[in-house]
Amino acid sequence: MVSLTGRSKIVSNKKMTFWEWIYIPAIVKGMLITIKHFFKKKVTINYPEQQRYFSPVFRGRHVLKRNNEGRERCTACGLCALACPAEAITMTAAERTSEEKHLYREEKYASTYVIDMLRCIFCGYCEDSCPKEAIFLTTRIVDCENVRKNFIFGKDKLLEPIEKNKRIDVTKRQTPNVFEFKKNLKYSHNK
Ligand code: SF4
Ligand code: SF4
Repeated sequence: MVSLTGRSKIVSNKKMTFWEWIYIPAIVKGMLITIKHFFKKKVTINYPEQQRYFSPVFRGRHVLKRNNEGRERCTACGLCALACPAEAITMTAAERTSEEKHLYREEKYASTYVIDMLRCIFCGYCEDSCPKEAIFLTTRIVDCENVRKNFIFGKDKLLEPIEKNKRIDVTKRQTPNVFEFKKNLKYSHNK
């Protein structure tokens, strides 16, 4: 038969040599490979006791930010949900009452804000599209769970604590230009 690729080999039923028949050279060869790997540097780590270095701009679990006065920055504009390629974000908008001014930065706020972490691909488009600097990805990892509904993150898991010392630091995700801009309090964006 003519080979189409020219790569086929003719298998012969030749008899084993003495050394092939006793298998010892093949076993020794295999052991040498094992020993060589035994002394090589390990490529695995003992997680979670040991953790690898994360880049400051690693895209992990999201946080919904508050402003300096502790008011929620999100205005439920929906841009993050529109930008999300995985359609992982949903929210409900509500109108702020006069008694709620200390809670929400603008007249409209997200009464519910949900991210389905099983859909999320951590692309960061929500962070990029947000005009209010309300949502950021962080270096925190989404906890392991064995119940699907626990991966549906609402405001209880996304919103940062109101106490200043418990806020989630996202400064390393922002460029020096953004920092300069944020120092200028004449812009309502920075208040
Ligand atoms: S990181 Fe990407 S996939 Fe995840 S919620 Fe944001 S936009 Fe959607
Ligand atoms: S997180 Fe940002 S983009 Fe998303 S709804 Fe809130 S303000 Fe709009």
